[in-house]
Amino acid sequence: MNLVLIGPPGAGKGTQADRVALAWGVPKISTGDILRRAAASTDLLAIAVAGAMAAGELVSDDVMTTLVDERLSQPDASSGFILDGFPRSVEQAQMLDMILEGRGQLLVVEIAVPEVEVLRRLGQRRICERCGVNQDAAAPDASACTCGGSFVLRSDDNEATARRRLEVYTRTTAPVLDFYRQRGSLRTVDGNLRPDEVAVRIGHAIDPVFDRHLTT
Ligand code: ADP
Repeated sequence: MNLVLIGPPGAGKGTQADRVALAWGVPKISTGDILRRAAASTDLLAIAVAGAMAAGELVSDDVMTTLVDERLSQPDASSGFILDGFPRSVEQAQMLDMILEGRGQLLVVEIAVPEVEVLRRLGQRRICERCGVNQDAAAPDASACTCGGSFVLRSDDNEATARRRLEVYTRTTAPVLDFYRQRGSLRTVDGNLRPDEVAVRIGHAIDPVFDRHLTT
């Protein structure tokens, strides 16, 4: 199963990607997570990556393509993967076509959420300052993470950066939807629902395509 999840920041891609990964036994590949790790390292790449992320801008297509190509060539991704956060531009979508040549069908699921709801969610989202997990997933009712870290606002979820990320989504990432719509590989699900309901809808969208019956 080769699956891409697309949606604005705060649409719930990461949460849903975790669920599908578990249900299908394929790795979730989150470029946001890969980049946050890269930004915390000490090499030269870290400076460029951290700067773009803090400003809510995209990291360059070249850097992204190299990172994703490397990750997709690891053995655990050979029988499928879920991409969360890539492609974010039409150029990246074209690069992905090249990377995936001969690897079977690609399905793209858009998780659609209105802008006001996205801004509300980003203002409320808290992540663990130590391990980076979403509070909702780790310990929704506790004040500390199971790893002992505190929950904090993600630095790029502040209002100014969140607005910029949304603008970048509308201008640069939304055209990717048309790119896949034209070839018939796009499905859209309503992301403005409870996470369980969104998961069921994603299941309905992908299970028949990859020839599997619902397990939830
Ligand atoms: P969200 O989906 O909530 O905006 P992510 O964790 O997926 O957040 O990404 C955070 C940031 O990482 C983005 O705002 C951007 O700076 C960078 N990033 C992630 N994926 C890509 C990509 N495919 N191309 C360029 N930059 C990316």
